[in-house]
Amino acid sequence: MDRIIIVGAGFSGSILARKIAEECGRRVEIIEKRPHIGGNMYDEYDKYGILIQRYGPHFLNTNKYWIIEYLSRYAKMFPHDTHLLSFIDGKYIQLPFNFRTMQQLVGAKKSEALLAKLRERFGRRDRVPIFELVESDDKDVRAYGNLLFEKAYRTYTAKQWGLEPEQIDRSVLERVPMAMSFDARYLNKDFQYLPKKGYTEIFRNLLNHKNIEVTLNTDALAHIRFDEKNHIITYDGEAVELLVFTGNIDELFGLKYGRLPYRSLDIRYTYQNKKSILPEEIVSYPQAPGYTRSTEYKKFTYGLNQDIPVSMIATEYPLEYDPNDEKANIPYYPVLTEDSRKRYDRYLTEACGYGNIVLCGRLAEFKYYNMDVCIEHAFSKFEEIKSRLER
Ligand SMILES: Cc1cc2nc3c(=O)[nH]c(=O)nc-3n(C[C@H](O)[C@H](O)[C@H](O)COP(=O)(O)OP(=O)(O)OC[C@H]3O[C@@H](n4cnc5c(N)ncnc54)[C@H](O)[C@@H]3O)c2cc1C
Repeated sequence: MDRIIIVGAGFSGSILARKIAEECGRRVEIIEKRPHIGGNMYDEYDKYGILIQRYGPHFLNTNKYWIIEYLSRYAKMFPHDTHLLSFIDGKYIQLPFNFRTMQQLVGAKKSEALLAKLRERFGRRDRVPIFELVESDDKDVRAYGNLLFEKAYRTYTAKQWGLEPEQIDRSVLERVPMAMSFDARYLNKDFQYLPKKGYTEIFRNLLNHKNIEVTLNTDALAHIRFDEKNHIITYDGEAVELLVFTGNIDELFGLKYGRLPYRSLDIRYTYQNKKSILPEEIVSYPQAPGYTRSTEYKKFTYGLNQDIPVSMIATEYPLEYDPNDEKANIPYYPVLTEDSRKRYDRYLTEACGYGNIVLCGRLAEFKYYNMDVCIEHAFSKFEEIKSRLER
């Protein structure tokens, strides 16, 4: 009973594997169902030498420099501020919504008084969720909030989540802010970086340790069983000391309380025989039918591929996650609603009944973790695991 198994070679599983292998000196087996490591952060070069993030664009941004230092142990990182445009009413508008956007949307003359009101109310804050504008006690601020909400937000949200904004958990909606300045960076954290040769290199180096063994193309659910009498989980019929699970918790328990909802993406690639396609690295399309945004990976300035004569855009069509569907079989974003949170709690209670399992990550904990939060969270889970292993 001394096997340690980690299900999933995404960020959560890989960070934990490395820490257990290195700091506890224990052997770790990682089981991954996809044919590659890296989970949704996986990237690879296409035949032209363009580095493509296969599961959508990822930008590391954090206020904690130790996160950058930690990743720099495994790959060379470089500073990169993300820029986005939104295509609204036939015009490219800067994202996040900021003072410049306001001038574009309401006209420079009208914006003068509105700008003064926004500065007076929110001047000390860097970013303010659009919701706060919509709920303002000032009718002009409220009207501007509603303009953003209706033109950009409602339609984008409906496509992204397959729900009306009113049905979605407020914490999700609060992720879309307005900058209280002319700041044109999409994200507002202090340290914004990308790995020079891509994220997969980080995973390769994280997992390159004598105590770690990775098995790909293997669905762990075919090997996991529940010993209800002894309250332990077995793998291939053997009780294991520890099972770290980073996959979908509802699938682990055979969907006994129903499926937890996720959004998936059908990502379609279009190549063109020109050096540049979009005016910015990402463009969002709130008003377009079916798709939400396009990414031109060549513009991520990795400094490697600018001379390639072709370019490519990856366009995202959100879909409901369905493990049996050819296009929608990857769970990308947990759909947080009152109902889905309650359902998750039932699965969590079920998991607490087994003594040798630890849940970690976006799928097992049904939470939207950004990469920086994912690292911090895996570090704190490791402390829990370490004290268990030392017991
Ligand atoms: C489209 C998109 C864009 C994002 N952009 C950003 C961004 O810009 N900035 C940022 O900070 N964060 C971003 N994120 C979040 C980031 O992807 C996550 O923080 C990170 O990938 C979480 O890692 P994880 O290990 O928890 O989950 P995952 O990456 O999903 O890893 C879980 C792994 O478990 C495997 N698995 C599941 N079930 C089984 C099973 N039964 N058997 C074996 N293996 C199994 C899966 O195949 C997968 O490899 C984005 C996420 C998405 C979806």
